[in-house]
Amino acid sequence: MVTEPESMEELIYFTNRTIGDGNVRAWVYRSLCPKCGKAKMGKPTGKQGQVKIRAKEYVCPACGYTVEKKAYEESLMIESAYRCPSCGKEGEAAVPYKRKKIDGVDTIRVHCQHCDANIDITKKMKEKK
Ligand SMILES: [Zn+2]
Ligand SMILES: [Zn+2]
Repeated sequence: MVTEPESMEELIYFTNRTIGDGNVRAWVYRSLCPKCGKAKMGKPTGKQGQVKIRAKEYVCPACGYTVEKKAYEESLMIESAYRCPSCGKEGEAAVPYKRKKIDGVDTIRVHCQHCDANIDITKKMKEKK
């Protein structure tokens, strides 16, 4: 169901973390420009070719089409592979890359395909009680 990434170049997000007795890896692929379909959307670059990490938008390097960062990210899927902290089985999940506030923390929540336990990928590496 999910495709393991081969390089960080293809990704806009990657995380690898331990959750209780389990762990989860999750990643988000860059997508093709929705307008021209010729290139993958990326952060804009400056005159010296440096990537503007903090930019609030993504730009197509081929046609210049620009999408606001949040709108672009929420159109993507986040893929994950995990060892469930509840049942110990391995599984995979893909959900929209939309963070929700859970206990006040921006979270991507996936459900274990075996036991339906919540597996939360929180924005910060903060421990949740
Ligand atoms: Zn384009
Ligand atoms: Zn489980």
